[in-house]
Amino acid sequence: MSSKPKIGIYGLTGCAGDQLVILNCEDELLDIVGATDIRSFPMAMSGGDENCPLDIVFIDGTVVQPKDEEMLKRLRERANLLIAVGTCAVWGGVPAMENKFSREEVKKRVYGPTGDLFKTITPQPLSSFVKVDLSISGCPIEKEQLLQAVASLLHGDLPRLPNYAVCTECKMAEYPCLLIEKGHLCLGPITVAGCKARCPSYGRPCIGCRGPVEEANISSEVRLLKEKGFTPSDIQNRLRTFAGAADSLQMESLKEGTNA
Ligand code: SF4
Ligand code: SF4
Repeated sequence: MSSKPKIGIYGLTGCAGDQLVILNCEDELLDIVGATDIRSFPMAMSGGDENCPLDIVFIDGTVVQPKDEEMLKRLRERANLLIAVGTCAVWGGVPAMENKFSREEVKKRVYGPTGDLFKTITPQPLSSFVKVDLSISGCPIEKEQLLQAVASLLHGDLPRLPNYAVCTECKMAEYPCLLIEKGHLCLGPITVAGCKARCPSYGRPCIGCRGPVEEANISSEVRLLKEKGFTPSDIQNRLRTFAGAADSLQMESLKEGTNA
């Protein structure tokens, strides 16, 4: 990697919230700009170089349209390291929420007869199409994790991001457990940490916006939630809100939970 790595920052289909987190780095933004050679950031600058090789490309959003897939594959060819940024890019996010229905059915329900005008494919995360070198999840991502990742990448390393659950951060902060003590449908046990258990800190259950933690024991969470009186449909709807791409795993766990 040259002394100033060539960077590209792009968005596929999504709300662009993760690109906004980059722009909102305020105090650190000038340092990032000074330490890197940002070749393209269509959301923030015009006249980017759309052909040069890139050392690192950051991509948020989900692959929802054929043009997303084309753009993603082209960026993969150009980039040495490809970083998936945000839960949409890592897990499919909200766009993949209704993947249990066919695209035709979803388009018909949302747009009626004009649905055929929209060219979409089944929403998928980046890893369904290309090799992803690093995933930074979050809806949106946490600024601290982004800065940590950028600092590591500038030193030629990949950052070490949390591989434990939100529950760990929640317990360390000594918040009362909303699942065990209050019977709320909290996904903290199976959601990857990094937000400092933000929602439980406000007395709200985790809805899993950061996506599943590595080796999430979903069947155990499902059994626990059933004991608290939640139905498979309550659990299924909550689980698939942000991690549609993990749906097959979740459905298997729901079946296991039913048999338990
Ligand atoms: S409130 Fe949720 S995140 Fe916190 S310990 Fe309980 S289950 Fe885990
Ligand atoms: S507690 Fe859960 S829903 Fe809330 S920000 Fe953290 S991961 Fe997202």
